[in-house]
Amino acid sequence: MCAKKTAAPASNASSINSKRRELLRIAGGAALAPLAGGLNALSPTIMAADRPRSLLEVSGTVISTADESYEISRQALSWQTRKSTHRPHLIVQVESVEDIVAAVKHARANDLKVAIRTGGHSWVNSSIRNDSVLLDLGKFRSMSIDTDAKTARVGPAVTASDFLRELRAHDLVFPVPHCGTVPLGGFLLGGGLGWNYQSWGGMACYCIRGIELVTADGRHIYADEKQNPDYLWAARGGGPGFFGVVTQFHLDVYPLPKMVSLSSYSWPLEHVESVGDWMSENFEILPDAVEMQGVLLTNPNASAGRCDPNGKTCQVYTYGFYDTMEESREALSPLIDSVPAAAHVTKNELQPSSIEALLAAIDATWVPARFEADNLWSDESLGKIGSLLKEHFSCAPSPLSAVLFEPGRRNMHFPDAAFSMWARSIGFLYAIWNDPADDQKNFDWVAKGMELIEPIGKGHFISETNLLAGRATGSYSAENWERLQALRARHDPSGLFHSYLGSGDVV
Ligand SMILES: Cc1cc2nc3c(=O)[nH]c(=O)nc-3n(C[C@H](O)[C@H](O)[C@H](O)COP(=O)(O)OP(=O)(O)OC[C@H]3O[C@@H](n4cnc5c(N)ncnc54)[C@H](O)[C@@H]3O)c2cc1C
Repeated sequence: MCAKKTAAPASNASSINSKRRELLRIAGGAALAPLAGGLNALSPTIMAADRPRSLLEVSGTVISTADESYEISRQALSWQTRKSTHRPHLIVQVESVEDIVAAVKHARANDLKVAIRTGGHSWVNSSIRNDSVLLDLGKFRSMSIDTDAKTARVGPAVTASDFLRELRAHDLVFPVPHCGTVPLGGFLLGGGLGWNYQSWGGMACYCIRGIELVTADGRHIYADEKQNPDYLWAARGGGPGFFGVVTQFHLDVYPLPKMVSLSSYSWPLEHVESVGDWMSENFEILPDAVEMQGVLLTNPNASAGRCDPNGKTCQVYTYGFYDTMEESREALSPLIDSVPAAAHVTKNELQPSSIEALLAAIDATWVPARFEADNLWSDESLGKIGSLLKEHFSCAPSPLSAVLFEPGRRNMHFPDAAFSMWARSIGFLYAIWNDPADDQKNFDWVAKGMELIEPIGKGHFISETNLLAGRATGSYSAENWERLQALRARHDPSGLFHSYLGSGDVV
C-alpha cells in the first residue's frame, strides 16, 4: 500500500526539519518544482513515486521513514523496553490543533490510517501501527482549573504527577493513575482505575464532562452530553479504538482529603486464598473511601526460574482517604480487627501518607522493562483468583513478575458510557523481564495463567488486557460493543483511525 521511497540524505532531511516544513509522502515532480532544486535532490525515487503530490506543513516535527532519526524516534514512542515491530509511515509530533487537523487531512488524502499516541504506556504498544500517520500528542500538557466549579481542562499528556501537583495547589484532587508517569490520555479513554475512584466519580472516565477532539473528517469540535454526545459516550471507556483525536478533557475534580492512611501486610504465598477472601468479604462492608490492593511478589533474594514457593509473598495494601487518622482508623477497623493470622505475617498499619508519596513509591517499582500484561474480571472472590494462580505464580520464569488482585467497585453506578465491564474482583498478570531471549517463556506464563482463571471470568479491563489475544470484544457488554462499532461506522465510515489492535485490524 505504501509508495516506496529511499531515505533522503540525513543532512537534507534535517535541513527540511529546521525550516519546519516537512515534505512527506511526496510524489510527482510537480510537487517539488516550487521548492527549488535543492529539494529535488532529496531522492531520485521521490520523483518517480506513484502517489499524488502531498505536502504536510505543521508547526511540530515530522519524522518519516527516510529520516536518520526515524528508528530511534519510533522506539522512543513506547514507554517499555519491549518495542513494537510496527512501522508508522510518519511520526508527527503535533504541537497544535491545526497540526492535528493538517495531519488527519494528509492521511486521508494519501490513503494512510491515523494512529494516536499520548504517553506510549499501552502494554501492547497499541498506538504504533504500520502504514499510519502516527500523531504523537506528548506535548499536549496544558492544565487550567476552575476552583469554584470544581472542574479542570487538561491536555491528554498531563501525567498523574503533574495533575496532582496542580490540583493540590487548589486543595483539589482527581482519581489519577496509580503511577505518576502515566498520562491522562489513554488512561481516561480506557476507563481509568484511578486512586480512590470509588469515591471520586466511579471509574475516572465518568469524571469526563466533555472533550475537545478532531474528527475523522478533520473538524475540531466539542462533545458533551448535549453536543455531539456520541463522542462523549465513546470517550468514556471506548479505549484504544476511539475514533477521534482528543485534544482536551474537561473533567470534574474533587475536594482533597487532608491525608491518606497506608496499611501494609505481608504473608507467605501459601496464605493467598484466606487473604483474598478476607479482602473480598471486608470490601463489601467498608466505606467507599477505602481502597485495597493485593499483590503476589518474589522476594529479591529468592531463587528464580524454577517452581519455588519460597520467597514468594502475598502482600496487601489498604488506603483510607480521610482528613484525619481517627476517621481512617474507624473506617478500616473491620479489616484491622480481622487480619488473617499466620506465622510470619508482617504488618504496618495506619501510617500517614499522601497520594504523591504513594506515586513516588510505586514509580520506583514500575520501571521500564519488557512487559506482557493481561487481566480478568470475575464475580468470584479474590481468594478464588489467588488459589487458582498460587502455584502458577510460584513457577514464574522471572522474579520481577507480579500478580495484582483488587476488589471491583460495589454497587457501581452505570452512567450511559462505553465502559461497561467490571465485576466483584479483578486479577492482573504482569510478566516483567529484561532479556529478549526470555520473551517466549514470559508470554507463555501469562497465557497459561489466563487459561487457569478464564473459567471464572466475566471479561477484561480494556486498558491493561492483551489486545493481541483478541480481548477487545470481551472488554464491553455485548450491547455496548455493538454500539461502539455502530458509532465508529457512523463517525469514521472509511476507517481512517486504526481500531483495536487484534480485532482483525492488526497492523
Ligand atoms: C506503569 C503503568 C501503570 C499504569 N497504571 C494504571 C492505573 O493505575 N490505572 C489504569 O486504569 N491504567 C493504568 N495503566 C494502563 C494505562 O492507563 C494505559 O496503558 C493507557 O493507554 C496509557 O495511556 P497513554 O496515553 O500512555 O496511552 P498510549 O500508549 O499513548 O496510547 C494507547 C492508545 O490510546 C489511544 N489514545 C491515546 N491518546 C489518545 C488521544 N489523545 N486521543 C485519542 N486516542 C488516544 C490510542 O488508541 C492509542 O493506541 C498503567 C500503565 C502503565 C505502563
